[in-house]
Amino acid sequence: MKRLAILGSTGSIGANTLDVAARHPDLFEVVALAARQSVDRLLEQCIAHRPRYAVMVDPQGAKKLEEELASKAPQTQVLCGAQALEQVAACAEVDAVMAAIVGAAGLPATIAAARAGKQVLLANKEALVMSGALFMRALEEGKATLLPIDSEHSAIFQSLPRGFACGRAGEFERAGVRRILLTASGGPFRTTPVDRLARVTPEQACAHPNWSMGPKISVDSATMMNKGLEVIEAHWLFGAPLESIEVVVHPQSVIHSMVEYQDRSVVAQLGAPDMRTPIACALAWPERIDSGVEPLDFTALGRLDFERLDGNRFPCVRLCIEAIRQGGTAPAALNAANEIAVEAFLNGRLGFTQIPEIIDRVLGEVHAEPLDTLEQAYAADVEARALASRFISRLSVSALPPSALPPSALVS
Ligand code: NDP
Ligand code: MG
Repeated sequence: MKRLAILGSTGSIGANTLDVAARHPDLFEVVALAARQSVDRLLEQCIAHRPRYAVMVDPQGAKKLEEELASKAPQTQVLCGAQALEQVAACAEVDAVMAAIVGAAGLPATIAAARAGKQVLLANKEALVMSGALFMRALEEGKATLLPIDSEHSAIFQSLPRGFACGRAGEFERAGVRRILLTASGGPFRTTPVDRLARVTPEQACAHPNWSMGPKISVDSATMMNKGLEVIEAHWLFGAPLESIEVVVHPQSVIHSMVEYQDRSVVAQLGAPDMRTPIACALAWPERIDSGVEPLDFTALGRLDFERLDGNRFPCVRLCIEAIRQGGTAPAALNAANEIAVEAFLNGRLGFTQIPEIIDRVLGEVHAEPLDTLEQAYAADVEARALASRFISRLSVSALPPSALPPSALVS
C-alpha cells in the first residue's frame, strides 16, 4: 500500500488523483487531504475517502469542516492553517505527496515533502519556477524521489531511458539526449486575430480546446505563460540546458512531448488529453495501472499537426526564458507578477494582453539577486506582487478591460 497525501485535493488535479486512487483501493491509502477554503468539496472527499487528516487552511472553513465531520466521518482529524500543509507533507504516515496546490502557496509544503524524503508527485510547477535550485537541494538532502505530473514532463520522463532520476545532476548528459521537444496546444487563441486578443474575456480564456483544468492554469495556457513556465520546469526536472528545449505547437494535444536522442531517434509519448494518465503513471511508477482514461482511437484522430510558436502573439514564453537566464530571484518575481496579473484578469480588472505587459514591467523594475535561501524567494515574490498590484491599480480607466466578444467572433 502506498500512503498518499493530496495537497490541493479539491482542485482539478486533486480530484483526478482521487479518481485514480479510488480505482485501486488495494494499492493506495489516502492518508491526508488538503485545501484552502472549499469546505463542501473537502467534506465530500473526506466522507468518500476517509483520510486520517484533513487540512483546511482557512480557519472558518476548518471550524465548519470539523463540525460536519464529527458526525459524518469522525475518524478524520481536521488541521488548520498553512503550517498544517507542511506538517502532513512531512508526516511519517505518508509515503507519497501529490503537490497540487496552485501557485506560490504550494512551495513550502512541496519543499517540506522533499526534505522529508517523500516521493514527490509534482504538479505545482510554480514551486520549481520560484526556487528550482533550492528545491533540487531539498530533494538531495531528503533523498526524495521526484516524479512529474505535468503531462508534458510526464511524457518526457516516459520517453527518457528507464531509471532516469529527475532532479539528479548528470542524468541528462548520461542519457544521450539532443533535444527536448515540448509540445503546446496553442490554447484557445492560437488562431484568434491578434487585434482581438485585447478584448477576450476570462470565460473565453478558460475554455481550453483540449484540457479541462483549474482557472489559473487555463489562463496561463491561453497566454502561453504555461509553456514558458514548463520550459523552466523541464530545465530543472531533467537538468536540461535551455538551448536543448524547444517548444512545438501541436494543436491536438495527443503527443504530450518528445525526446530526440543523439542518433536523431525521436521518442514520443501519446495519449488522450486527460490528466489521469500522467497521474496514474506517477502514482504507480515504475508499474502501470488502469487510469480510467479512454484509449486513443488513431483512425478517428486522422492527423497530427505541428506549427512553429508565434512569439509575437505569445510574448510570455520569451519573458520566462529571459527570467530564467537572468536567474536568481528573477523567476520568482516573474511567477508572482503573473499570479497577480492572472487574478486581476479573472476578476475583470485587467485586459488579456495586459498580462504580459505587467510581467514585463515588473521584471524591468525588480532587483534580481542570487538565490541562496527560501526567504529570498519569498521576498522577491512579495516585492513583485506589490509592484504588479501597483501597476494594475494605476492603469487608466480607458485602458481597462474587455467587453465580451461573441464566441463566434473568435473562431477564425
Ligand atoms: P485548481 O485551481 O483546480 O485547484 C487548486 C487547489 O489548490 C485547490 O485544491 C485549492 O483549494 C488549493 N489551494 C489554492 N490556494 C491554496 C492555498 N493558499 N493553500 C492551500 N491550498 C490552496 O488548480 P489545478 O488543479 O488546475 O492545478 C494545480 C497545480 O497543478 C497548479 O500548479 C497547476 O499549474 C498544475 N497543473 C495543473 C494541470 C491541470 O490539468 N489542471 C496540468 C499540469 C499542471 P480550494 O479549492 O479550497 O481553493
Ligand atoms: Mg502541461
